[in-house]
Amino acid sequence: MVLMTKPQIRKDYFKDTYVIIAPNRARRPLEVKPAATELTTVCHFCPHDFHNETITYQDNNPEGDWEVVSVINKFAALTPDNHSAYGQTEVIIETRRHGMDINDFSTDHIVRVFDAYIDRFMTLRNMDGIKHVIIFKNEGGKAGASITHTHSQVYAMPILPSKTEDEARAYSKYRLEHMTCPYCDIIIAEAEKSRVIWQDENLFVLAPYASDAPYGAWLIPKRHIRLISELTHGEKESFATALKILLGTLDRFGIAYNYFVENAVNNEDYHMHIKLAPRPNIWAGLELGTGVIINPIAPEFAARIYRGQVKIHTDPRF
Ligand SMILES: [Zn+2]
Ligand SMILES: [Zn+2]
Repeated sequence: MVLMTKPQIRKDYFKDTYVIIAPNRARRPLEVKPAATELTTVCHFCPHDFHNETITYQDNNPEGDWEVVSVINKFAALTPDNHSAYGQTEVIIETRRHGMDINDFSTDHIVRVFDAYIDRFMTLRNMDGIKHVIIFKNEGGKAGASITHTHSQVYAMPILPSKTEDEARAYSKYRLEHMTCPYCDIIIAEAEKSRVIWQDENLFVLAPYASDAPYGAWLIPKRHIRLISELTHGEKESFATALKILLGTLDRFGIAYNYFVENAVNNEDYHMHIKLAPRPNIWAGLELGTGVIINPIAPEFAARIYRGQVKIHTDPRF
């Protein structure tokens, strides 16, 4: 395989969005990061400082202590009692153990985190006046997380964000024109390509052709399902394995990331999936001014890096 060296403008599979893949700008070799130094003194997600929280979901360990919980975010931008910024936001604390990352968890533990996502998603989408619920995770300072105790967030909003609406509109347009689902078609079209990162019978993981993030990855179930709540246990395990590979790689190289769960809006058709957007660089003026993103890491190169890490993150001997 010959890796691209000249910049290339690429259009998304089915949306009218463009990125400039410019791998010759700065391809610094990846280095394994030194161990992070802990600056936090008090952590409110640790069991000994965890008081007076409004718990909305709790999954206990065999000792009877909470292991995965969801709590109301008291400092949230959106709250149910504010008519000017109505909504609800929750923090899902993925483990009681401080200092662990999600990629350090067992497959079973990640499945339990998914069960928390599903419970909160299904409950909050039925809340009065809520139009959209987004589940996401920020990991690492550059991606916006301020607490090192691993957690995810759920935002229930009274509005449909324009990015979500654009995605839903482009999806429906594609469906009408082709009579097929764009995500099902991406799995078929990319099956033999250099952008495949990992797959099993349930899940297809790729570095998308017009990736808007360096080392960006999409995790698409092979079955056409609309919502995260429709995942089978086996499909959740496949997501867990894929996250261990992807996030384990980013963790190893010290790259901050966001991932977000994309679900159907209302009762419309959709193909649920997770998008992973690492943040190894800070967006510059072109990105902020035009929305056109320069991605210095070619997706084909990113896929190759991830494939090289699969064994490390799936073989218990490593
Ligand atoms: Zn903690
Ligand atoms: Zn589909």
